Amino acid sequence: MTSSEKIVVVGGGCAGLSAADTLQRAGLDYVLLEAGDRVGGRVGNRTNGSSTWAIGATMTEPQWETTGQYLRELGILDEVRKVRTQCFGMWDGQRTWYLTLGRGMRPAQLWHFLRGALPLSVYLQAIRFGATVLPHLVKAGPASRKYDLSWLSRLQATTTAQFGRRHGGPEFTDRILGPFLATMVLGRTTDVSIALPLATLALMRGMRTLEGGMASITDALHDRVQDHVRLSTPVEEIVVENGAVTGVRTPEGVVAASAVICATDAQVARRIIPALPGRMADDLSACSYTSTYNYVFGLERRVVPDDFVSLMIPESEDSILVRAFDENCGAFGQRGPRGSGLMHAFTAGWHDDTLVAMDEPTRRRAVISEMQRFFPEFPDEPAFTDVIRWDRALCQQSPEQLEAMTDLRGHLDDVEGLHLAGEYLFVNSTTEGALRTGRRAAEQVISRR
Ligand SMILES: Cc1cc2nc3c(=O)[nH]c(=O)nc-3n(C[C@H](O)[C@H](O)[C@H](O)COP(=O)(O)OP(=O)(O)OC[C@H]3O[C@@H](n4cnc5c(N)ncnc54)[C@H](O)[C@@H]3O)c2cc1C
Repeated sequence: MTSSEKIVVVGGGCAGLSAADTLQRAGLDYVLLEAGDRVGGRVGNRTNGSSTWAIGATMTEPQWETTGQYLRELGILDEVRKVRTQCFGMWDGQRTWYLTLGRGMRPAQLWHFLRGALPLSVYLQAIRFGATVLPHLVKAGPASRKYDLSWLSRLQATTTAQFGRRHGGPEFTDRILGPFLATMVLGRTTDVSIALPLATLALMRGMRTLEGGMASITDALHDRVQDHVRLSTPVEEIVVENGAVTGVRTPEGVVAASAVICATDAQVARRIIPALPGRMADDLSACSYTSTYNYVFGLERRVVPDDFVSLMIPESEDSILVRAFDENCGAFGQRGPRGSGLMHAFTAGWHDDTLVAMDEPTRRRAVISEMQRFFPEFPDEPAFTDVIRWDRALCQQSPEQLEAMTDLRGHLDDVEGLHLAGEYLFVNSTTEGALRTGRRAAEQVISRR
């Protein structure tokens, strides 16, 4: 490849922006083609009056290598907020019990919670589970922090439900592991590999948010690369001829290129690269995603305690909701008028058959009435409602997918000039995976020039 030959980045989410920024800093010419009318992908902000809420990601970990580098380079490290007090809501089938952990922990509330919220069997099963898992986490800790999660490879074929029931018990799996996965990937224990929660625990050092939301990262990256970004330009095909990339086809015509970084999700990548070798195509096809309607309700008054982080809904409840949190409270900072609520509710993808068939007012009403069950003070008519549909919200990290991604990582060089990037290539479904794989893909392009 000569330096006059074009480099195309497809997709302007975290992975694409990170790739673009890396190319830019190396002084290379490139163009980033984004299908939508904004960059950021599964990261962004929306506003209504003085309220601002996140679309997609909300939490981060500045000790994650690439995230930390970007926070420093972009000058936004001081926007990081440690979530020192975390209040969880636990639904027991009748009512929501609250438990505050961290700095604001209150012994009386803890005692009340321990006695009433969960059956004794959950605690005993949690101890059993911890006794199995903790030694692994401790032993693998230093390697995990360098993203060496090879210790998980022999576990990845096991689902969280299988592992949880075997090493903990059914109630622990239902009440703790299920809601944990719902919060992480909006997924179910029967679908998700045990490698995901274990990898997450190994990589986690406490929750963090950014003052301006995660969009602080994507906005700052966009500022640096915006002269090279073309919005509303969907790539219809990445053209591969004789085992090498020759360009991309868009509605406006073909852009010749000798290097293409495909930074879309795995399913789009599979669709727009029809000439992919069979093995890579099969691996990408194995990548499945959770789906959700993310409702955001503006409330005149907050209906959860300060520092509320998440509602834990047992899997056996089979609710249409998997996750709920208020973005205008302690954990997330102030994102709206003081005392008001910015309540997120996420529907369960496995109820899509019912939910997708509903018209929007009916679906909204169903979500509100479920919120009222969990939070009795939730009003009939929120001040405003926003809804974001994610057909592909988060990589599900099923056993089949993890196996396919391990295989795919060994075939990333099979097409000359084609580079894949995106969170699906990483060990868990996070912005770190997207930023990191985007940067890696660009570094490969740079090293081959
Ligand atoms: C509800 C939700 C909550 C989350 N919470 C967190 C969290 O708290 N912390 C965390 O770290 N992560 C979280 N994530 C995950 C995180 O947002 C993603 O892992 C990450 O943003 C993915 O980035 P990406 O660049 O790989 O993909 P994307 O963000 O999906 O970017 C892909 C881009 O490609 C574009 N595109 C698609 N097709 C084409 C085409 N044909 N041509 C051109 N462009 C195209 C898309 O429009 C998009 O902009 C969450 C995700 C969701 C949905």
